[in-house]
Amino acid sequence: MKNCTNLLFGLLLLPVLLFGQSKKAAKPNDRIEKLKAEAVAAVEANKVQAQQINDMLFSFAELGFQEEESFKYLTTLLEKEGFTIQKGISGIPTAWIATWGSGKPLIAVGSDIDCIPKASQKPGVAYKDPIVEGAPGHGEGHNSGQALNIVAVLAVKKLMEREKIPGTLMLWPGVAEELVGTKAFYIRDGYFKDVDACIFTHVGNNLGVSWGDNGYNGLISARFNFEGQAAHAAGAPWRGKSALDAVELMNIGWNFRREHLELTQRSHYVISDGGDQPNVVPSKAAVWYYFRERTYPKIKKLFETGIKMAEGAALMTDTKFTYDILGSAWPVHTNRPIAAAMYENIKKVGLPTWSDDDQLLARASQLELQAPKVEGLAVKLDSMGMPTSSAPVVMMGGQAMTPMGGGSDDIADISWSLPTIVLRYPSNIPGLPGHHWANAISMATPIAHKGIVYGAKAEAMTLLDLLLKPEILKEAWAYYKDEQTKDIKYEPLISSKEKPAIYLNKKIMTEFKPKLEPFYYNPSKYKTYLEQLGITYPTLRDDQREAVKKEVEKAAAKVSSSRSE
Ligand SMILES: [Zn+2]
Repeated sequence: MKNCTNLLFGLLLLPVLLFGQSKKAAKPNDRIEKLKAEAVAAVEANKVQAQQINDMLFSFAELGFQEEESFKYLTTLLEKEGFTIQKGISGIPTAWIATWGSGKPLIAVGSDIDCIPKASQKPGVAYKDPIVEGAPGHGEGHNSGQALNIVAVLAVKKLMEREKIPGTLMLWPGVAEELVGTKAFYIRDGYFKDVDACIFTHVGNNLGVSWGDNGYNGLISARFNFEGQAAHAAGAPWRGKSALDAVELMNIGWNFRREHLELTQRSHYVISDGGDQPNVVPSKAAVWYYFRERTYPKIKKLFETGIKMAEGAALMTDTKFTYDILGSAWPVHTNRPIAAAMYENIKKVGLPTWSDDDQLLARASQLELQAPKVEGLAVKLDSMGMPTSSAPVVMMGGQAMTPMGGGSDDIADISWSLPTIVLRYPSNIPGLPGHHWANAISMATPIAHKGIVYGAKAEAMTLLDLLLKPEILKEAWAYYKDEQTKDIKYEPLISSKEKPAIYLNKKIMTEFKPKLEPFYYNPSKYKTYLEQLGITYPTLRDDQREAVKKEVEKAAAKVSSSRSE
């Protein structure tokens, strides 16, 4: 209800702004507010397009570096809308930059597009039910951000044309974000050198924005390739030098060392090549690590420790090794003045009005996944995120510890190169594990669709702020120069030699693409992807319905007992 009220209020305000000010000359801010109200109305009017883009990318379900269908679909759409497309940037076939407009400011608007291995899931179903068993799926929600950006940018573009507002809009995708594999290359190769500000969007559980150090870890993703000597594993094992032994010893070394690493590190690995068959001593084997830490020097140090483990393992097994850096990211730091402008707009937009069905799906999914809280979807806006350095410091053995770290996003490399913010929007269900099939449940349902539209409204308004209030960009650059990069200078974690690892995920997509193709969304035939799949929204088992009912009754009883006390 609240948001209908906001919209109504905006519409009621229009005539006041148009006529109420007629006696005096219209102030520049009144003009901006009027244009914002128009942009919000344009986004609302274009919500079917947002839903279609979202559902289409969901159905493609493409892993990092293999986003071929998403690439074709999005670049064709933007070409039709009058954008100039630069394809295959940084030597990445599925990467592109779309620009429209002329002159300054140049505002970049980006979002990721890749999905998660083995996360295929029917949307709107509150239990595991893959569209294609074992296939990739949008178990993070990267199918939604481009939909948000495109409808926001198109709304602003229309106003720029009519009002002759100078400036250039640049849309771009985060390719292979799950591999943190591209954005440092975009920066290294100069694609952002003239950009004045960047708004990035990422799926979340609330409409929000943060500034400063986001508390994330940065990382180096590296694969260690060991080479030994093949031999008959039973007939002449003494003639073999096992590359797999080296991989296992490196991992054992790392897991012992882990006890003596700082608590902020996160490191994990998969054995990406463990040999071919047991009776052949593996002459080749490989292990792929993510080394995550809170600062650039700590990331470098952690990686060097990893290299030492590999050296030790090679020495013990008489094997040789090389390593390849497959991805990298700095810890994210976002811009205060632009975040402040965005947050003002977020407050005007508010949160979507969720239906009973939306809440039922959310609660059932939270119960199914044993979420810490069974609270449904967000109904209260988050406050603006502050830098974690102002949060209480964790004390450990008398030592003040920095925040405990967590995931990474290579948007960081852009955020350290120019003023950047990340807008989170409420298209996912709170309390789910992340990188998991369950995080795909909401991603082609009314929950995702509403979250995108609300995010797009806040983004469109902020784009107008950036285009029409030069003081925001000035303050943004002052923050970037005088505060953010005063003591810390960006140094890439990749060198001029590294190339994007565009071969990753090729094998998996070759296997699954033909199986996913019959399920690609056809908007000319079906209003929504849910309709195409024949899914009743929401789909729950009987025991799930019962459990949600009990949970809601329990919560209601708690409220009434606390009132009676
Ligand atoms: Zn992501």
